[in-house]
Amino acid sequence: MADTSTDNLNEGLFQLLFEKSPGSLLVKADAPRFTIAAVSDAYLQITSVQREDVVGKGFFEVFPDTGDDPNDENTARKVFTKVIETGLKIDVPVYRFDMKDPVTKISSEHYWSCSNIPINCSEGKVAYVLNTVVDITGEVKAKQAAIESENRLLMAADATGLAFWVLDIKTADFSFSPQMVTIFGHPPNTGVSLSFIRNQVHPDDMQNIVLTAYNRALVTGQYEYEVRIFWPDESMRWIRTKGMVLFNDKNQPERMLGTIVDITESKRDEERKNDFIAMASHELKTPLTSLKAYIQLLEVKLSASSDPFVITSLTKALNQVNKMGALVHSFLDLSKIEPGKLQLKKNVFDINKLAQDIIAESRVIAGTHSLKFSANGDIKIHADREKIGQVISNFISNAIKYSPKGSTVTLATEAIENHVRVSVADQGIGIKPRDQEKIFQRFYRVEDDDMKHVAGFGIGLYLSSEIIHRHKGQISVESEEGKGSIFSFTLPLEK
Ligand code: ADP
Repeated sequence: MADTSTDNLNEGLFQLLFEKSPGSLLVKADAPRFTIAAVSDAYLQITSVQREDVVGKGFFEVFPDTGDDPNDENTARKVFTKVIETGLKIDVPVYRFDMKDPVTKISSEHYWSCSNIPINCSEGKVAYVLNTVVDITGEVKAKQAAIESENRLLMAADATGLAFWVLDIKTADFSFSPQMVTIFGHPPNTGVSLSFIRNQVHPDDMQNIVLTAYNRALVTGQYEYEVRIFWPDESMRWIRTKGMVLFNDKNQPERMLGTIVDITESKRDEERKNDFIAMASHELKTPLTSLKAYIQLLEVKLSASSDPFVITSLTKALNQVNKMGALVHSFLDLSKIEPGKLQLKKNVFDINKLAQDIIAESRVIAGTHSLKFSANGDIKIHADREKIGQVISNFISNAIKYSPKGSTVTLATEAIENHVRVSVADQGIGIKPRDQEKIFQRFYRVEDDDMKHVAGFGIGLYLSSEIIHRHKGQISVESEEGKGSIFSFTLPLEK
């Protein structure tokens, strides 16, 4: 150790330098008294004492160590003793020593950071301990407040079952709140990596939902999806994550952050509801089929009847039965829409031929409107023919439902680059911009006086959009209130 002996120092100069030094106090190595030999102005100021009340007194007379924890190795007495015994410097980064206001005598919480340096005399023994202190109460309190506020946030999140996560896009550094591991079925405090958690996501959902949402979020800045995950015990659960992307000033995505919540219970409720709808509509189908058969039989038997009322009544009854059949059918489909349940039976077919068939069928039931379609050539696609037919039929029946009698409904198909676009245009009531965003949602119906008499459940467009999205296509609407609407979808073309 360097010789820091004070023996040769000019006393007066030493005193002056010392008194101007920041927060320093010199105690003699005369344990247990530890007489204060010198003190700096700054030390006096931060500890609110006067030099004449300090110099020459024992350290613990001025700063009593009452109430010290006997197991605490950082008490001043233990630290001074150790510095003298070992001749080594000891730092105490944070300790609490409350201060009394000299006037009000009210004690207040104070935190300090100190350094204790041995000063040797010429015999090499420790003669003094230089105790340098810094008041860090502000920093400690700010940190405590930050921790408290974070704890409050975590407690609130915990109570609602929410977990937070942050992903650094460049470094793939992934951090999250403690609740995260529980949501993924691990014991609390288990360390898990991003790839570990990703491997728990159902492979189909990873491919179809997570990756699509991630790529979309890099453009839109918004992130939201629901997926199935597997817990380590192999049980399947559902989670919903919602978040946002933070971009840097060059508009490059930098970080993603969001929340995750377990939605298994509400999904199971939804499944039970869907199972009920499936069962109820299945049960309704059987009597409806026989009712339809009887009406058709009656139509044949009474075709020669001279009573026109009988014939028109039977035709109307058949129309109503067909409508009800279509509704029951869409309820059945609705219950199958959950991931993994809607099975697509894909094959290659000509979409123009399908469009022609649908127009022919629709003409039978929609004598009130003029239906137009002109096919040009073959457009082959690889898709589920029945489901795509269902979407086109739904567009046409809506076009008829929401436009005046005698107006024209035009179906069109066109191949553009590697896509086919199918559209249905009507001259009907149109849709307000604020409703256009919502009509593809489940059970959404426009609430308008003109609509009250039009029957429907708001499931046709929801089903259509699910079918088109499962085919990796896009569905959209352009509309002007009072003028009409064009509903369309695009599908990738067979290469
Ligand atoms: P539904 O017709 O059974 O109510 P849909 O899901 O097919 O259910 O349609 C949802 C809503 O979108 C309808 O209630 C209607 O308000 C609106 N809509 C659909 N097609 C048209 C259209 N061609 N013109 C005007 N509004 C339409």
